[in-house]
Amino acid sequence: MVVEAQIEKKTLISYNPADGSVVGELAMASADDVRLAVTRAKSAQPAWNAHGIRGRLEVIRRFQQILTDQKQQVAALISREAGKPVVEALLSEILVVLDSTRFLLENAYSLLKPERLPQGNLVMKAKLGKLHREPYGVFGIIAPWNYPFSIPATETLAALAAGNAVVLKPSELTPLVALELQRLLRKAGVPEDIFQIVIGEGPAGVALVESAIDKLIFTGSVPTGKRVGEAAAKRLLPVVLELGGKDPVLVFDDVDIDVAAAGATWGAFMNAGQTCLSVERCYVQRDIYEKFISACAEKAKQLRVGNGMERGIDMGPMINERQLQIVETHVDDAVRRGARLVSGGKRLAELGTNFYPPTVLADVTHDMLIMREETFGPVLPIAPFDTEDDAIRLANDSEFGLAASVWTRESARGQRVAEKLQAGAVMLNDMVCSFGISEAPHGGVKASGLGRTHGRIGLEEMVRPKYVGTDLLPSMKKIWWYGYGGKFDGQMDRFVDALFSRGAMKRLRGWLGSAAALWRKQV
Ligand code: NAD
Repeated sequence: MVVEAQIEKKTLISYNPADGSVVGELAMASADDVRLAVTRAKSAQPAWNAHGIRGRLEVIRRFQQILTDQKQQVAALISREAGKPVVEALLSEILVVLDSTRFLLENAYSLLKPERLPQGNLVMKAKLGKLHREPYGVFGIIAPWNYPFSIPATETLAALAAGNAVVLKPSELTPLVALELQRLLRKAGVPEDIFQIVIGEGPAGVALVESAIDKLIFTGSVPTGKRVGEAAAKRLLPVVLELGGKDPVLVFDDVDIDVAAAGATWGAFMNAGQTCLSVERCYVQRDIYEKFISACAEKAKQLRVGNGMERGIDMGPMINERQLQIVETHVDDAVRRGARLVSGGKRLAELGTNFYPPTVLADVTHDMLIMREETFGPVLPIAPFDTEDDAIRLANDSEFGLAASVWTRESARGQRVAEKLQAGAVMLNDMVCSFGISEAPHGGVKASGLGRTHGRIGLEEMVRPKYVGTDLLPSMKKIWWYGYGGKFDGQMDRFVDALFSRGAMKRLRGWLGSAAALWRKQV
């Protein structure tokens, strides 16, 4: 049964998390508006698909140029609505999107065009196989606030390249960035009904899941993702779920401590720790444990926290009070259970309501919330380990499995550990940036989600594979059709034997025998 989404509020106000000022006020979409957007997208999509891959890529090429020209303006808006430093908006959002256009321009044609499918089955040798990749139709995209530009844009561009229309429901916290994406796409030539935005909170997302979309990409928290997955399952709506993480970093004792500590602090504090791939757990080999903690604390203290719109700021505010309270709860719980607070740990009220300092915690254990639940804030919790096996066991002891990072100069060890980690991606001697590698599939295992975005595998999510087999001997009856009994049964038994259980000569003889049987059937 379809449950009617109840949308009560009519207006959405977007606030700057750094100072609470209003960035914009927008009308919210009703459930009817959402359905109408999907209906429009459905009727417009065939014409968009008819442009062909090369035609659609031309539009993406123009988008790339327009975004390059307007990058500062877009970065400033991202900073104003999501709080991150402008330079981070440029590098982790705009550059990522531009590179995804580069990937599509270089690869989408060869990855999406029909492909010959060689067939090994001797019985089927007289067939020509082809694999076609057809657009689903209309994609629903539901996006979070933490990467309000790069997440919906990379997903949208791949969906559009494959010939789909898109209806995007951005986060209620960052709707203006989504509207900016819409403006840029329209300027590049994407028709109005091919990319539409429905503004609203959770109920607008519910309405989109229940609408006539053909596939959904949801990016958000595990609890919402489970609700979305359940609703989608009721009508067998295909979904990609990009959910939360609790990414571990394993630091072995042969590393350059200063470099590894610089990586871990950036991985934990960039975007104020509000990245799905943030470093949320850090395990350090005991020999270098104390030195590593001191290096991280030193670096954390040097970071400049403030309004991301100001030059020279390293870390902006958290998105809102609710998110900040989760961080406080996790840090307080850890300290109460015996963790050592090395730096930070107390909100920076003098800067505004949403500021929390880069915080380093040591001696954390897996009975603390900070090591079990997604914190999504600027905290680097560190624990010691002794052996490689210990490190792997600790890293895998989590319900999440988005990404992981291993630091060692011994490449063989890095590869060995990477193979044993339960994660959608493992970076050796770096972290977080796999999202910016357009060729790398992005997505998780365990509670971190289903399916992938980005790269070849992400592009495959945008299309339905269709096999088309052409018989090259149309006037010939097939050996497996009726005409059973007599000698035929025995001949077929020998034929199967010849194919799979004897040597080459017997195989050939069997093949000839079946060809003879086939011939007899024709005459
Ligand atoms: P959220 O789950 O609260 O919301 C995500 C989106 O879902 C929003 O647009 C929201 O309005 C919408 N929504 C809420 N209820 C809904 C419902 N019942 N049906 C349909 N849509 C609904 O997440 P958030 O706070 O916006 O984002 C932070 C979370 O997203 C973190 O857990 C983070 O790890 C995760 N995330 C994951 C990835 C990834 O690629 N794996 C990337 C970024 C963020």
